[in-house]
Amino acid sequence: MRAVVFENFQTFPVLTEVERPTPGPGEVLLKVAGSGACHSDVGVFDEFESDPTGLMTPSFVLGHEASGWVEEVGPGVSGFAKGDAYLVYGPIGCGRCPACSRGQDTYCAQPQQVGYLATGLGRDGGMAEYMTAPARNLVPLGDADPVAAAPLADAGLTPYHAIKRALPHLAGGGRYALAIGLGGLGIVGVQILGALTGATIIATDLKPEAMAAAEQLGAVTVPGGEGQAEAIREITGGRGVDAVFDFVGAGPTIALAAAVVAQRGSVTIVGIGGGTLEWSFFGMPYEVNFSSTYWGTIEELHEVVAMYRAGQIDPPVERFALDDALEAYRQLRDGELDARAVIVP
Ligand code: NAD
Ligand code: ZN
Repeated sequence: MRAVVFENFQTFPVLTEVERPTPGPGEVLLKVAGSGACHSDVGVFDEFESDPTGLMTPSFVLGHEASGWVEEVGPGVSGFAKGDAYLVYGPIGCGRCPACSRGQDTYCAQPQQVGYLATGLGRDGGMAEYMTAPARNLVPLGDADPVAAAPLADAGLTPYHAIKRALPHLAGGGRYALAIGLGGLGIVGVQILGALTGATIIATDLKPEAMAAAEQLGAVTVPGGEGQAEAIREITGGRGVDAVFDFVGAGPTIALAAAVVAQRGSVTIVGIGGGTLEWSFFGMPYEVNFSSTYWGTIEELHEVVAMYRAGQIDPPVERFALDDALEAYRQLRDGELDARAVIVP
């Protein structure tokens, strides 16, 4: 079968022939429906000099945001019907430690025993005609279109997890949220903020088209450049933003987040843009919660699918054939996409 293979760090992936996988014990073979191209893949093949996790040893098939139809089940698996559509929860932990027991395989206590991070990140993923996944990682999609739903597995789940963690900051009247970076994750983040909170949503991106899309969703946009932080503060009546979500994570965006957050507010860094922040006691307002965030739990992925099926979120997608997957990655790397690229094998 054809697959997009990550061969090494600092090396553009290749489209090549690999063997079709067979499902092992407890696993299911899926005929891939859709596989989203995430900027983290660009991080892996283009930006990281080496493996920051020790769990993404090349080579492997990319694609950690995938959906598919059941083709075959491995030994010991029952209860799946051929042709049914599922979303793949990418993170794979040991399945037994406290974190895995609460569905949070992202924080597995013994990842070295597993040997990889996730499908498409150390283990073969969805940028292929077929993929395998543990049966416990499959979230049913019912009659939802699995191609359109593929981005929910990361571009939906990651902002959902980040926003849920920050919800106490957005409960109550007159609250403000800021989304920085309105690409694959950020635009769904704006949708989730709109669905889960009554906060005024402020949004910014370098691209005017991305800001226009956020305005369509009800956000107030503020372009970058001189005076941006002041303009954002002014919208909040001078008080600052209750919850900032930085979907870029570069030096200037982290600095913006720190400059506009309110006292007792929260800053969540979602993007892996390599930025750093020098902290000092009086450099940020008092009692700000400043944290990173990583993906989400499988329980939350069920919730994200429920929101999608209820029409509360709808990630914008652009479909690419598997033969054009490398072109999709090139456009993602070069900032030319206006929607999540979903590879349809
Ligand atoms: P994307 O390429 O689809 O979108 C990035 C957006 O940010 C684009 O619209 C771009 O114009 C905008 N942008 C870039 N620099 C900017 C700046 N200085 N100011 C304002 N806007 C700027 O990327 P994506 O797939 O949405 O991923 C976003 C980030 O999140 C990446 O760094 C990715 O690696 C990371 N990520 C993190 C997690 C996690 O678990 N923490 C999960 C998935 C992705
Ligand atoms: Zn575990």
